[in-house]
Amino acid sequence: MKKVLEAALFAAGKHRNQKRKGVDGTPYINHPLEVAYLLNAVGGITDEDILSAAILHDTVEDTGTSPEELVSRFGEEVARYVLEVSDDKQLPKEERKRLQVEHAPHLSYGARLIKLGDRIANLRSVVSEPPAGWPVERQIRYFEWSRAVFKGLGPTNPPLEELFLREFDEGFRIVSARGGSSAVF
Ligand code: ZN
Repeated sequence: MKKVLEAALFAAGKHRNQKRKGVDGTPYINHPLEVAYLLNAVGGITDEDILSAAILHDTVEDTGTSPEELVSRFGEEVARYVLEVSDDKQLPKEERKRLQVEHAPHLSYGARLIKLGDRIANLRSVVSEPPAGWPVERQIRYFEWSRAVFKGLGPTNPPLEELFLREFDEGFRIVSARGGSSAVF
């Protein structure tokens, strides 16, 4: 418990100047907290290294936190999960997205859970607060890419998988309908 709360405090500090891409300007920290919450509340995960890594999952990629800092504060295991789910920012965006699909089957169990929670939380965000400037086509592509990552993850945690599929179906309908209404003419 202590480690998980410490991760929340650490991540909140690291993401303090960041907001989600949606027009609402939600503080960034809501996202990793939601991922950890889903793993625990829906997936029944209680492993504190996995929950801590879920809260820290974007700190290396998006805040420049070094792997060494994570190792010294939270241990090797947590750092390893975070690195497993972090993209190489040197690569172009499309290549990174392709690699996420390709790497999904080879991730550890903990990293697959975090990816799954991340996909659920991000699909929800695209539905409830679409990123500013994302046309419907891009929202649909994002859904399709998320499903490809989901398929790559394989069997992980039945309740989380069910939730992903439900959010996918409902969200895809809503997002597609946005296209329908703007394509009337
Ligand atoms: Zn994330």
